[in-house]
This record gives sequence, C-alpha cells and structure tokens, in this order.
Amino acid sequence: MFQVCGYAAQQAKAPLIPYSFERRDPREHDVVVDIKYSGICHSDIHQVSDEWGWSTFPMVPGHEIVGIVSKIGTQVTRYKVGDRAAVGNFVDSCRKCGPCQKGLEQYCVKGAIWTYNGFETQNGKTTPTQGGYSNKIVVDENYVLRIPDNLPLDRSAPLLCAGITLYSPLMHWKAGPGKKVAIIGLGGLGNIGVKIAHALGAEVTVLTTRLKNKKKPRKWGPITFTPHPIPTLSRSLKGISTCLSTLFQSRLI
Ligand SMILES: [Zn+2]
Ligand SMILES: [Zn+2]
Repeated sequence: MFQVCGYAAQQAKAPLIPYSFERRDPREHDVVVDIKYSGICHSDIHQVSDEWGWSTFPMVPGHEIVGIVSKIGTQVTRYKVGDRAAVGNFVDSCRKCGPCQKGLEQYCVKGAIWTYNGFETQNGKTTPTQGGYSNKIVVDENYVLRIPDNLPLDRSAPLLCAGITLYSPLMHWKAGPGKKVAIIGLGGLGNIGVKIAHALGAEVTVLTTRLKNKKKPRKWGPITFTPHPIPTLSRSLKGISTCLSTLFQSRLI
C-alpha cells in the first residue's frame, strides 16, 4: 500500500476536506495514474449528500479522471509510463458474465465496481473505492482508457461521464448529416450533447426555457432555440428524428 492525498467528505453533506488514505500497490495488470484533472459531475454532489441513500464515508468523489501513467504492473501491455490515461465511472467488474464478455462491463450482471462509493476485494480483503479528487489512482489496465494526444487533458475530463452519457444515445440513434437532433436542457449534459451532435453533422435544436442561454453556444454552429419545451413539446419536435432530454424526469411531467 502507498499513501495518497485527496479531498473527502467525512459524512453526508459535509464539505470536502483534505484526506490522506492508502491505495494498493500495483498488481500485475494494474496501472498507476497520476491524476491531473477530475471533472465535477452532478452525481458527485448527489453522492456526497447521500441523496441516493447508499453513500459510504469517508468519500473521495470523482469519476471523470484524466492523468499520466506513472507506474505499471509487470504484466501490463496496453500502457506504458508517460501515457495519457483516463478512468471513468467504474474500475472493475465480474469479467465473466455475458455483458462483460461483450465488452459492455457497465452492464455487468453482478454490478460494475464504481470508481468511488463502491467496494473492491483483493486477497479476500474488501476495501472502499475512492475517486478522482485525489492525486493518484490504481486501476486494472482493462478499465483504463486512453486520451488522444490532440485532446487537452483539462477539457477531456468531462467526456468520461457527461460525454459518454450523450455520445452513447447520439450514436445509438445514428445522429449525423441529414438528421435533426433536439436536446432538452442546456446544462452540463446539454452543452456537451450540442457539441457532439454538431460534430457528428446533425442539425441541432435546443429546447430550453432559459432563453439567456441563447448566446452561449453559437460558436459551435447553427442552433435553433425553442422556448417552453413542455407546453409546446409535440409542436417543437416536429421533424426531429432524435430527442434527448437532459432534465430530471420530474421536470418533464
Ligand atoms: Zn458522472
Ligand atoms: Zn460481469
């Protein structure tokens, strides 16, 4: 084990304070990542506040992690020291079930092991996972992602959660040239969804009640803004092939 430092909540709703804790020494297939940036996901706030009812403390949040590989286990083949690396929502899974075998570990039948507020077992000893608001993390190479050289590290971090959350449905519904995509809400998820939809070549409409947002994303390309998403939703969606809502469900009812 070795000592790392981070920021932790000691109990629900407590402010994060400096926290020293131990990470495991790298096993054969482990990669040590020196964390350079960690995005702040809204779920970090939910978890620290124990709003989902299963938080454990002390808790070091953070699952949008980017950094540089500083050490590797003896059998690591996919990374070398100095590589740009990232860690997202989960750090392990059962590796045996159908989804795991298909590379869909996020759907692991036994449940993926979350990057923080989870538990992992090594040599029969179960310890809590701790996240990216810290200076180093140790993760099996199969659960580490690569950051391309042309992406700035600081701007890459949000891709690990908000990014994939929007990229996945946009790809599933084949957003691209000739397709009209509507995105409801222009917060953290909406912003990144607009960027990705544009990058894929889709025509983008943002449905927002906050018309002050209108000025914000024009630099990303032409966007249609439609106010009042709820009362006029069906009219607003005319001609739209894909609609992604980034709002809490309760706000749609
Ligand atoms: Zn997240
Ligand atoms: Zn599995």
